[in-house]
Amino acid sequence: MFGGIELGIEFFEGLVALDAAILERAAAERCRDCGGPLHRGDYPRKPRGGLLGLGAEAFDRRFSLCCGREGCRHRATPPSFRFLGRRVYVGAVVILASVVALAAQSARAAERATGIASRTSRRWLRWWRGPFTTSAPFVELSGRLVPAPARCSLPTSVLERLPGEATARVRRLLAWLAPVTTASSPGGSRFLRGLV
Ligand SMILES: [Zn+2]
Repeated sequence: MFGGIELGIEFFEGLVALDAAILERAAAERCRDCGGPLHRGDYPRKPRGGLLGLGAEAFDRRFSLCCGREGCRHRATPPSFRFLGRRVYVGAVVILASVVALAAQSARAAERATGIASRTSRRWLRWWRGPFTTSAPFVELSGRLVPAPARCSLPTSVLERLPGEATARVRRLLAWLAPVTTASSPGGSRFLRGLV
């Protein structure tokens, strides 16, 4: 199902719209430190998409907010459908390249298909099997998907169980991951309700 899938411009434009909707919800709140107003304060980013998501390389801003009160300036970066923490590659590509790496006959074949160095995809597979399995999204997902998805074949084992076409499944998994894309927005999943 995920072989030969391409993430086109429309897919990524859809993610920009989702991130903009999240930002709007987050900006309607006040600074959680001092109650001051939150102002727009994006970060410049230079993300990569490899061969699977070249369209993502146009994203040059990570939407973010900053407290407007002098002396506070607390940062509040809301969850994102595009950027997965500090990773250079966008989240959708981390997901798909991991799927390809799991299914490929060899590291070289995966590298050819994704354009991503095999040491990078191996690191991602270790993350899916390790830190990801102790994260709130995985614990919640495991509760919903009975029996729980096999840890050794994450993220494929989750995608296989989500509804919709291949790209819709990737978007759903990004929605699950969104709360872990930022450390400065605790409880960020409230901004995602009803979006996907
Ligand atoms: Zn503040």
